[in-house]
Amino acid sequence: MLVFTITVGPFFENCFLVADEKTKEAWIIDPGAEGNRIRSEIQRLGLKPSKIILTHAHGDHIGAVEELRQFYKIPVFIHEKDHPLLISPEENLSAAFGMPISAGKAEEFLVEGGRLNLGELNFEVIETPGHTPGGITLYGEKAAFTGDALFAGSIGRYDFPHSDGELLFQSLQKLMKLPDDTVVYSGHGPATTIGRERKMNPFLLDLD
Ligand SMILES: [Zn+2]
Ligand SMILES: [Zn+2]
Repeated sequence: MLVFTITVGPFFENCFLVADEKTKEAWIIDPGAEGNRIRSEIQRLGLKPSKIILTHAHGDHIGAVEELRQFYKIPVFIHEKDHPLLISPEENLSAAFGMPISAGKAEEFLVEGGRLNLGELNFEVIETPGHTPGGITLYGEKAAFTGDALFAGSIGRYDFPHSDGELLFQSLQKLMKLPDDTVVYSGHGPATTIGRERKMNPFLLDLD
């Protein structure tokens, strides 16, 4: 598995390119902004994008969705409960930040336990709501793309209008059941591992 991180936009959001080494087929995870830069990276790396996958639909994670969907003619995957955020600048909070952002409707909905294959790579959808109602983690190949549920040394905000702190902590409990050596790719900040967060993350010390 190849993973490339492109940090984009005013919120330093991490867009990930995940690719199968052999076929160069790639997924674009959370293209938050700067579609031009994401496109030139894809070209430079010789990747062939086949899907856009969204961990959730806050404005900082979706700003380049429409541009890339139309350029590559590829489908957008999201959890149904975050779909209202995808299509509305008010719901995804970008309007409140003075930069209204939205996208057209998604082609596919992600569900708990859903399996997705990228060439020879296998991934599974884990529902991790709380930061938003339809937040998901894409898990597979010893990696977890957690969006804004879990960060290195921190956790997602749960004071937003659609957030739910209790749900977020349940989601974090689920994530802490993954193997220690799982690499965590977060929506913001550096990568970490489940083992490291279980030991060091001050927000997770009281979890069972
Ligand atoms: Zn968010
Ligand atoms: Zn974010």
